[in-house]
Amino acid sequence: MSPDSAVCQTRRVRVCVTGIVQGVGFRPFVYKLATEHNLSGFVLNQGGAVVIEVEGPAPAIELFEKNLTTLSPPLSHVETCTSSEQPPRFDESAFAIIESEQSSQFVRSVAPDSATCEDCLRELFDPADRRHRYPFVNCTNCGPRFTIINDFPYDRKRTTMASFNMCSACASEYADPTNRRFHAQPNACPDCGPQLQLFSPEEQTGFLQGDAALAETARILRTGGIAAIKGLGGFHLCCDATNHDTVERLRRRKHRYEKPFAVMFRSLAEIQSDCQVSSLEAQLLLSHRRPIVLCRLSAEHRLSTAIAPGLDRVGVMLPYTPLHHLLLNDFQGPLVMTSGNLSDEPICIDNQEALTELRSLSDVILLHDRSIASRYDDSLMVCTGNGGKSRAFSLRRARGYAPDPIKLTTPPAKTVLAVGAHLKNTFCVTAGSSAYVSQHIGDLENLQAIRHFQETLDRYLSLFQLQPELIACDLHPDYLSTSLAHELSRRLEIPVRTVQHHHAHIVACTAEFGITEPVLGVALDGSGYGSDGTIWGGEFLFCHGSQFKRVAHFETVPLIGGSKAVKSPWRMALAYLYKRENFSWFESAIAEQINPVLIRGVHQLLEKHSSAPESGFSAPLTSSCGRLFDAIAAVSGLRLEGSYEGQPAMELEAAARSALQAGNGEHPRKDTTHTTSDTTCDAVLPVADLVEQAATQRLAGLTPPEIALQFHVRLANRLSRKIIALCKSYSVSTVCLSGGVFQNMLLLDLLINLLGDSMPDLQILHPRQLPCNDGGISLGQAVIAGNQE
Ligand code: ZN
Ligand code: ZN
Ligand code: FE
Repeated sequence: MSPDSAVCQTRRVRVCVTGIVQGVGFRPFVYKLATEHNLSGFVLNQGGAVVIEVEGPAPAIELFEKNLTTLSPPLSHVETCTSSEQPPRFDESAFAIIESEQSSQFVRSVAPDSATCEDCLRELFDPADRRHRYPFVNCTNCGPRFTIINDFPYDRKRTTMASFNMCSACASEYADPTNRRFHAQPNACPDCGPQLQLFSPEEQTGFLQGDAALAETARILRTGGIAAIKGLGGFHLCCDATNHDTVERLRRRKHRYEKPFAVMFRSLAEIQSDCQVSSLEAQLLLSHRRPIVLCRLSAEHRLSTAIAPGLDRVGVMLPYTPLHHLLLNDFQGPLVMTSGNLSDEPICIDNQEALTELRSLSDVILLHDRSIASRYDDSLMVCTGNGGKSRAFSLRRARGYAPDPIKLTTPPAKTVLAVGAHLKNTFCVTAGSSAYVSQHIGDLENLQAIRHFQETLDRYLSLFQLQPELIACDLHPDYLSTSLAHELSRRLEIPVRTVQHHHAHIVACTAEFGITEPVLGVALDGSGYGSDGTIWGGEFLFCHGSQFKRVAHFETVPLIGGSKAVKSPWRMALAYLYKRENFSWFESAIAEQINPVLIRGVHQLLEKHSSAPESGFSAPLTSSCGRLFDAIAAVSGLRLEGSYEGQPAMELEAAARSALQAGNGEHPRKDTTHTTSDTTCDAVLPVADLVEQAATQRLAGLTPPEIALQFHVRLANRLSRKIIALCKSYSVSTVCLSGGVFQNMLLLDLLINLLGDSMPDLQILHPRQLPCNDGGISLGQAVIAGNQE
């Protein structure tokens, strides 16, 4: 074709596409599209972007550009697509995929690990297919991504698949642009790819390989055994979810006595036989990100009661790797799938680590030889509302979701590293208008968790090529994350800024929604260090930009015994009831279960506290909403001691929902028994009377579920009146509800309905992409510190 002979004008355009465009079959898609339109040119991965040059008749170029974004592959996500006109070259005969180039020019995004696609599943169970029952089948539309990538651009040699040489059959699929496995970096088959190996705790070498290893694992599980299984982002411990003795045994071995376990089912239909699943929940369960979703247990479910003791919901998920599909298919029933570790330690990823650390926890260890580049727990989601109003919220953001960047409307001028909270830690690094919030790291309470934090941070900084210029951390002087921040600050010679915990909660929420106007932030949680040195946790904050003012808070009580009080709902109940009528009743009511010496001790400390400061004794004061839930759980008769963080509140919510279910199912919304101060703009919202009321109801013979429900209704009403009074007096039209207490879907629903009734124009925000618990704190810290000049 010569310049003059072209019937219509020949154009050449250069298109640069950013977003999730690598490792998702984008280049073959471009190749196909260009070839279909008879265009010449090339496509390549450059840094984190895909760069295309196409040449041909003007109308074909236009059509190509249009289809490029509308028909892009299922796992891709195009963020920007910019074209520039180039002089035609007239010297290419065809379209080609060319060698990737390293470049730091574009923001890097990685596709999340994605559940096995339908095509691969068909092959997995097709006896005639060469990948029949091969546990590592994958293609460009599915398979591991972020858990195997070591560097950009995403090519096999920069993944943990680098050590496997493709056989000729795999290599020809990989090289064929019309094949589903064209440039599928983890492409493998039984002849050339990763293999399974089964270890018994005693042996140093695997005693079974391949399908035999899988068959033996299924047999052991069927006979009540516990298996450690290497997954995508780490090891799972798994066992028969219907076998009560086995589940109990797993709890004892893991030292995890009551915290709920997640369960994996073979199909949605099987989940539905044990749980009530809404359409939104089903959609999430089936999505390629495959999170754990909290679903309501049906009355006649088959699962062991040891899976989620005291709760009405259980975390369920569907298989997301071919290995899971095979295992669930062979086992024929639901399996507990909990992270492979001792309670509170990071999930185990390394084979050697597994062989030493999981040996005592499992009867058998199913390994494979594809390494895991990064630790990823399963993500956890919850849904609320019904029908058209139902929404999904993240409770733990990890596999399949992190580190999808959050887009910032007020990007910090500097690259900020925020080290996050103490519990449910995540960190956040900003790069212009993108904020990368890490996957869930865990509670920074042991060395292993700190190592996980450091490994993951190093990985993010090198993968995304970021150099922090500013560090943000919590105001709490004693958090390990605070020491980490100071250590990093010295090492990198950059400044540190501290951010108040609840302020960070609220700004994480406004940042997620891109809100810049002033808001009323309602941060309800267990505890966070306050600007006045007391322990906050029931806060009403007027927030604007990176500033905030504490305009009201829950009534404070002394935290008798400090951290001991946090695990002892009964201590909190005594603190709230102190000097009230029901104090002595409660004190004697618990004497059978709690050592009287301890009770007397708390009583005396409360006395000393009320006569402080002269006595020299002082207990930290707290306005915590989480502790209020603890107290109600104790007084209503649900539980006097807690075994994991948030347990009393979760049980209280479950009890309240059961009362709701037992009634007519209608939300009893209104509560007219309000005190005068909760409608005014007073700085203190009284709450101790709610504990006193719960005690009176208990004495009057109400059941724990009835008390729990009435408490939820009363608290929601009180919050709603306070919020409306404050919104009016500060002239704000947006309220942000955040903090761990808002993981309580009943309270959230009640409050949203009440607020909507009284103030229909009020904009109500609640974090969705990031957890409202401390897992979201790092984003708030980064945005606040980065915008403070
Ligand atoms: Zn596939
Ligand atoms: Zn092969
Ligand atoms: Fe918090």
